[in-house]
Amino acid sequence: MARNKAKLTRRSFLKKSSATASLFTVFPYSTLTSSLNISDDKRILIIGAGLAGLSCAYELDRAGYNVMILEAKSHPGGRVRTYRDPFADNLYAEMGAEYVDSSDEHVQKYCKKFNLTILPAKQYDGIYVRNKHIYMNDIRSGMTSLPFDGTIKGKLFGQEVKYIQEWIDFAKKEGVNSKKIQALDKVSVEQLLKQEGAPKDIIQLYTYLNATESTTTPSKMSALSMVLSHVKTSGFSENTVEGRILGGNDQLPKAFAKKLGSKIKYNHAVKSVITSSDGVEVHLSEQRDNRTIKGAKIVFAIPTSILKNIKVDPGFSKEKSHSIQNQSYGHVMKIAMQFKQRFWDSNNSVGQRVFTDTPLRRVYHFSIDQPGPRGILLSFTSGSDARKLGGLSEKNRIKISKESCKNIWNNSNDFWEYGISKYWNEDKWIKASYSLKGVGQKGYRDILAKAEKPFYFAGEHTAINYASMNGAIESGIRASNEIKMT
Ligand SMILES: Cc1cc2nc3c(=O)[nH]c(=O)nc-3n(C[C@H](O)[C@H](O)[C@H](O)COP(=O)(O)OP(=O)(O)OC[C@H]3O[C@@H](n4cnc5c(N)ncnc54)[C@H](O)[C@@H]3O)c2cc1C
Repeated sequence: MARNKAKLTRRSFLKKSSATASLFTVFPYSTLTSSLNISDDKRILIIGAGLAGLSCAYELDRAGYNVMILEAKSHPGGRVRTYRDPFADNLYAEMGAEYVDSSDEHVQKYCKKFNLTILPAKQYDGIYVRNKHIYMNDIRSGMTSLPFDGTIKGKLFGQEVKYIQEWIDFAKKEGVNSKKIQALDKVSVEQLLKQEGAPKDIIQLYTYLNATESTTTPSKMSALSMVLSHVKTSGFSENTVEGRILGGNDQLPKAFAKKLGSKIKYNHAVKSVITSSDGVEVHLSEQRDNRTIKGAKIVFAIPTSILKNIKVDPGFSKEKSHSIQNQSYGHVMKIAMQFKQRFWDSNNSVGQRVFTDTPLRRVYHFSIDQPGPRGILLSFTSGSDARKLGGLSEKNRIKISKESCKNIWNNSNDFWEYGISKYWNEDKWIKASYSLKGVGQKGYRDILAKAEKPFYFAGEHTAINYASMNGAIESGIRASNEIKMT
């Protein structure tokens, strides 16, 4: 990606009573007691082997707790996924989380612990919008302007600031908790920009800038989040220097998994959870013959898009159920394209890392740290484009990707070899991109993170640094500390 450090509705309601009633319809008590139990009344069960679940289990295991991770898939990592097999010459590509920046303290810390190297990735050097090829340096120097009304010279990101400057100044003066600023939670980015006189073009550009990072549209993003991102001045920009784990990001979850060994049970998808006087009981999906596993406590380290369909008895509090049901996510897709030569490095190319308004949105040389002559261009696309591409067959996704590349670099077809996509919203065990701050959701994170004993909660959506690997680990450590303190 692409991701916004300064970040980021559906409405229906899960009533506690209805969750309980439906659970007993599916699992009469006799079925529960007669099923195969691997009982342990001190065991901490952790659902999900993404970075949140892995880091939580790792820290508890080190502190002497009896942990077991139940993971639906056959591998660890969740939204950290490196593809290797499809490509020639041992090339690989990140189909999920990609960037680690210098402030990602938890990722940095564990990479160091596991001897993983983080290398900086190159910055954007080209722009292709409204059918125009523009060199980033020409934008930076003010020689060229963006073909969008109302933009200022010299930069790409942050074009909205001019229109919300008074809000930023007010927040700095009166504090971010002032009533007036907090009321922006009820307003979308699109509404606020319109209200402040921003031309349509600025809102459209925001779609390809921050809304792309957040995987959604300006109409679904909270204006509070936008203003706060500028107050903190930590926003993603064309100058943000980011890194990647040399050799593939999947090495980080794999390193955690190696330490945990057989304490991770793969192909163990959790279907429902029941509490009883002596602890908790987890029911696995049909493929596991309705088996049950017992423990003392549970950590849910799965996205709310999945959690909302797990039956839990007794149900969560009303406010937590509401947040689980309504937490906003966008749409996200990565497309990896293998070419027999790195034509993007030639003199007449617009660049090797290009910001676009094509269906590919961000498209860049991924294999920069890997030997050539072959190379991989990776697209990080999101929001409406990811959704549209996601509705197509794999063949058509790749056809459109190939055509878009040709528009950006006119000789790309001469070198084309292969393409593959990963649309996270169609992944059975994720069904989402990553969390974002939707309109009216300012209180969600605290509610989603709060323990309701014997239930504990981790996952990027429960983190201060949400929507990131760092946030996932932050949440896993927090949940492990909560358990240690009980
Ligand atoms: C395309 C994309 C690009 C991204 N780019 C970046 C980036 O550049 N930098 C960055 O820091 N972050 C990025 N992120 C975000 C980052 O990947 C996530 O924030 C983080 O990996 C989430 O970790 P997690 O442990 O919270 O959840 P996940 O990784 O989603 O882990 C949840 C796990 O639970 C399992 N599971 C689900 N349901 C069940 C069930 N019923 N029973 C058992 N197991 C279950 C899943 O299989 C999965 O393994 C990106 C994400 C995507 C999708």
